[in-house]
Amino acid sequence: MQYRKILDMHTHTDNSYDGNHSTMYMCECAARAGLRGIAFTDHVEIDIFEKGEFNRWARQSYFEIMKARAAFMGKLLIFAGVELGEATYDIPVAEKLLNTLRYDFVIGSIHNLPGEEDFCFLDVDNTSDEELHEIMREYFEEERKLAEWGKVDTIGHLTYPLRYICGEHKRKIDLRDFSSEIEAVLKAIIHSGIALEINTSGLFQKLQSTMPTEDVISLYRHMGGELITIGSDSHYGEHLGRGIRAGMELAERCGFHELTIFENREPILIPME
Ligand SMILES: [Zn+2]
Ligand SMILES: [Zn+2]
Repeated sequence: MQYRKILDMHTHTDNSYDGNHSTMYMCECAARAGLRGIAFTDHVEIDIFEKGEFNRWARQSYFEIMKARAAFMGKLLIFAGVELGEATYDIPVAEKLLNTLRYDFVIGSIHNLPGEEDFCFLDVDNTSDEELHEIMREYFEEERKLAEWGKVDTIGHLTYPLRYICGEHKRKIDLRDFSSEIEAVLKAIIHSGIALEINTSGLFQKLQSTMPTEDVISLYRHMGGELITIGSDSHYGEHLGRGIRAGMELAERCGFHELTIFENREPILIPME
């Protein structure tokens, strides 16, 4: 199916420490590529909020989104989002931020275990299979807590550690070994009334699949999940919208007919067309 309406609900500007392009430039690229809408979701890592100066990052990101929204009025739908990392590791800090800035959309992500560094720094080659298993188990446990907390709108890139463990380092992880943990995460997502993200960035990395994979998204549907957000996790203007069509096809194969966007923190279901 040829989709006409492409909305990218996960993108980063240079107001993310790993971003590259300004908010305005990203909007120009999105408009040029014919995207219908875009959510800017720059990083705010709650567990290192002070150290990482995320108060400043968050305000700058928000301010520039507002400016871009005014400039692109009528040309591009622009949602003020944030990718909130490790929110449950310091809930008062997370809640304060969410009460201060009026976001449209909040992605909840886990990039590291408590007190540890991002999974991208994991010394996978010197980690045993048993240790990797334990890391994954703890990771799903943290995702479950995040979903149970429920004050985010979608759970971002579930299975993120696999990007490094399986993608970069070519180790094998069988997700069937974690079926009860994954079911617990999905159950918490459904119970909290939040969404699950199909993150398409992995399609263009060594992982070669979405995060999470089709099996997990299909299971979510079978368990009664209804809300799916789709995002490219682009860090460059030229990558905006990448994989969104594939993400919609995947969602349809799993039995979804609508995708979800968020405005003023409220879900809006729109038909995939
Ligand atoms: Zn992330
Ligand atoms: Zn991201």
